[in-house]
Formats: sequence, C-alpha cells, structure tokens
Amino acid sequence: MAISIQIFIYFIIFSITGYGISTWAISLPPQLSGRIHSDPDAIKAASTDYGHIISVNPAAVLSPSSVDDIKTLISFSFKSNSTPYTVAAKGNAHSTWGQAMAASGVVVDMLSLKKNGNGSRIIVSGNKGSGFYADVGGEQLWIDVLNETLKQGLSPVSWTDYLYLTVGGTLSNAGISGQTHRRGPQIANVKELDVVTGKGDLVTCSPRQNSELFFAVLGGLGQFGIITRARIVLEPTKKRVRWLRILYNDFAAFSKDQESLIAMTGASYQNVPDYAEGQLLMDPNTNLDFFPPSDRPKIISLIKQYGIIYFIEVAEYYDDSSTVDKELKCLFKNLNGFIPGFMYEADVTYLDFLNRVHRDELVLREKGLWEIPHPWLNLFVPKSGIFDFNNGVFKDILLKNNFTSSLVLFYPMFRNKWDDRMSAVIPDEDVFYPAGFLDSSGFDNWQVFDNKNKEILQFCARTGIKIKQYLGHHGSKEEWIDHFGSKWNTFKQRKAQFDPKMLLSPRTENFQLTV
Ligand code: FAD
Repeated sequence: MAISIQIFIYFIIFSITGYGISTWAISLPPQLSGRIHSDPDAIKAASTDYGHIISVNPAAVLSPSSVDDIKTLISFSFKSNSTPYTVAAKGNAHSTWGQAMAASGVVVDMLSLKKNGNGSRIIVSGNKGSGFYADVGGEQLWIDVLNETLKQGLSPVSWTDYLYLTVGGTLSNAGISGQTHRRGPQIANVKELDVVTGKGDLVTCSPRQNSELFFAVLGGLGQFGIITRARIVLEPTKKRVRWLRILYNDFAAFSKDQESLIAMTGASYQNVPDYAEGQLLMDPNTNLDFFPPSDRPKIISLIKQYGIIYFIEVAEYYDDSSTVDKELKCLFKNLNGFIPGFMYEADVTYLDFLNRVHRDELVLREKGLWEIPHPWLNLFVPKSGIFDFNNGVFKDILLKNNFTSSLVLFYPMFRNKWDDRMSAVIPDEDVFYPAGFLDSSGFDNWQVFDNKNKEILQFCARTGIKIKQYLGHHGSKEEWIDHFGSKWNTFKQRKAQFDPKMLLSPRTENFQLTV
C-alpha cells in the first residue's frame, strides 16, 4: 500500500513538473515498481513509431520481465474503482500511425520480455507425422524465430517482407507477403495462443478451446488481449531460393500472368510458386540493384518510354538445382505477356531471401533515411476494381502528379486462404490485390504524400471500388463501422466480452470511444 501511494504521488509530481506528458495522475500496481518507467527517455521511446508522424505520450511504460507482470498491470486497471488506465502493447513499433501508443495510459514494452524474461521463448516441437510447430513469445521478432527454427531445418510457412517485426504485432494485423496466395496470411498459420485479456486473465485459446477469443485476437488490432505466446506452424525448409523478376509494360498482361501464376490446380501447392509478388517501377532513378548493371540502361529507357513498368517477383525454394529449373519452366509455361528478354534471376540462401529487406534497411540507416516519416497507405483492392485502380491511381494520381519515387507493391491473393471467423478484414471478392504505397518523406513534407493517399481513398470511394485498408487508421466511428462492414457487430460483442472496460490498444484515434 505504501509503495502504491508512492507511485501515485510520483505521477502527480511528474505531471506538474511537466515533461508535458501526463495530464492526470494514475495509480499503478505496487508490485511492478522497478519495471514501470516514466523518465523522459522511456516516455519518448514509447511515443514514436516507424511512421514518425504521430507522437503521443503515455503516462508510463512497463518493461515486463514476465507474463505475470502484464496480467498484474491489466487486472489492476480493470479492477480499479477510480479511473482505469489504458494499456497498449508495443512490439517493435513498426506501425506508421501510432497504433501501439496510449495517450496518458501505459505502454507495455514487449521487447523487454526478450531481454528480461527467463529462458528461451522460442521452443520447437512436433514431428513429421503430426507436423512441426514453435511456441513463440508474442514479443519475439520473426527474424529470431527464423534463426532458431532453421537450426532444426524448419521454418514458419507464411511471412512478412520484413522480419524485424514482432509475432504479436503482425498477428494483430494479418502478416502478408508473397507466400499468402499459397499458405494464407500469418494469422492462418497459428494453432494456439496465450492471451492476457482486457480483464487481466491469461487464457489459452485455439480453434477448439476458447475459440471466440482465438478468432477475435487474430487480426484484432490488439483490441481483445495481449498475445504472450503463439504456436506457429512450421515445415521442413529448403536451403536455397531461385528469385526472379519479370518485366511488363502492359497492366492487363501483368495482372493476367500474376493470377495465372498463382492459380491453384487442385489442393496441391506443387503448381504454384513458393512466393509471388508484384511491384511498379516509375522512377528512372529508382534502385535497380537486383538487375545486372549492363541491363539497367535498357530498363531505364523502358520506364521513360512507358511511364510505368510492372514486374512480377517470383521465388522458388529448392535443394536440388536440377529440379528447380524444371519447376520454374513448368510454372512459367503459361506466362506470355512479359517483355521478351526482360526476365532476371538471382540465386540466394533461404535466409538471405527472407531477410532481403534488412539489407535495404542497413543501407537506408547509413544514409539517415530510415528514421524519417513514412506516410504509408496499404489497401486491399478487389479484383473487379483493378483496371480502374491502375488508370485512376497508378497512371493519374501517381504518374501525372510525379509521385514516382514511392515503392508500390501490387499482387493478388485469394479470399479462401483467409479465415472469415478472424477479426482481419478483407474485400468481399474471391481475388483481391494488396496495394502498398510505401512512401518515405522529409519531416516537413509528409502531408504532401498523405494528401496523395487521401486522394487515392477518395478516388476509390467515388468510383465505387470497395477497398479495405490494411494497417490503416480511421478518424471516426462511421469509418470504423464501414471498415468492419458485416463484422462490426461481432467486433463490438467481442470487445464487450474480452475488454469490457475498453482498456486495450486505445490507439491515437481513441478507438475505445468509437465502439
Ligand atoms: P507494433 O507496431 O509495435 O504494434 C502494432 C499493433 O499490434 C499495435 O496495435 C499494438 O498494440 C499491437 N500489438 C503489438 N504486440 C502485441 C501483442 N503481443 N499482442 C497484441 N497486440 C499487440 N506487414 C505485413 O503484413 N507484411 C509486410 O510485408 C510488412 N512489411 C513491413 C515492412 C516494414 C519496413 C514495416 C515498417 C512494416 C511492415 N509491415 C508489414 C507492417 C507490420 O506488420 C505491422 O506494422 C506490425 O504491426 C508491426 O509489428 P510490430 O511488432 O512493430 O508492432
């Protein structure tokens, strides 16, 4: 009790001496003293993210050393008779719109579990007959999961393009990449979870046990609980990867070939590539490192000639180089729209392929271009709208207005690889295309890119393309209702069940006020 009063007083003083942070005092559980921080450095670290656009200060940061610490923090707020505080899990803070922030609440620095926790929190189990899996702490980075599982010749099956993201962070969204067409998003490759709910209860859940919580949490934007363990599907992996890029100047041919490449015949994975994505090239000064130096001038002239060059990116994992050539030949036999002679390939290790974006990160960090604003927009575009989207967004909004430097991803995936019982929201069509507008800007001009993003959203609304935002943010209750569509009522019911006091993941949009 004495310590509780001490902490209570501490926060009052903090707000008065005013690092300008806490606008009211909060009382925190005495057992956590020592792991609760409110010094300016801790507050600053918890008030920023990869977006570098939004900054809101929490009252305090918890650096948990165990899952019990997280339970204690949440149940203390839940049982509080006075004002409860909000709680946001912060994974690696690679959100772009403050999703892991909590204004005047408490941010849980999940990475502390890695540093301060006892024992390994990546445990590989299973066998060939019943399948392999890894029990992984929600705070673990996917790169660490990969390195640990590779020691046993195993690997998760579904990825994000970049691996320095936490398991809890990507499972709260979906986790997509070039494997999704084949294996589904990361949330579709989880067997079981441990979750601390908004009541402070630690619950194990799976499709058979506490299934409502399991499906709520996957893609649930951190609204229903903090993931402290996930059981991730693994499979034996191959050692090497043949990695190709194939260039197109015609959108119809590009999208037709993309879809034919991933079209599955029967239930087998054998006839589709291990990985398939697509990108746009619009800037003659773009990074063409993947392509041989001797061909870069030819590619630059193509970009200048056509304005937009699209490329399909394919990867096939292999152990035996004689079979991979045959597999690729078979995969490519139906591709006929690419620019003759513009198919390029690289051969890398499995680890280097999956960790490819980290190489770019190191280069950008060295140039001081990593910790800068990222006004990103990620959409899921239904197949019925992709031609209008190409004309209205790629050709008009981007090209005509000179937004050519951004990295734009565009590739198809299937609805039937997603589980509709989960909270993640996708368009209501069998095939849809993630469209990622991954801009970097200076600190004083991110609004220019954000305005461009708003124009893209307005274009879709005007022309009736029923996109869904991925990793998005919405300003009003109406926008959230529109986002969740037919899932809104379920979402509300689950929130009332698992986080009745609306403590979790307040986000900067004051999400809890909208439900
Ligand atoms: P944070 O940003 O820390 O948190 C994100 C959200 O999850 C917050 O709401 C937070 O409260 C919640 N959360 C965090 N941990 C937990 C937990 N343990 N339990 C419950 N909720 C939790 N996404 C893709 O799908 N595919 C990609 O290829 C991809 N590439 C990316 C590349 C880069 C360079 C970057 C910066 C992002 C990329 N993303 C991609 C987006 C990324 O998956 C999400 O932003 C993800 O949330 C980041 O994980 P994080 O650990 O940084 O989460």
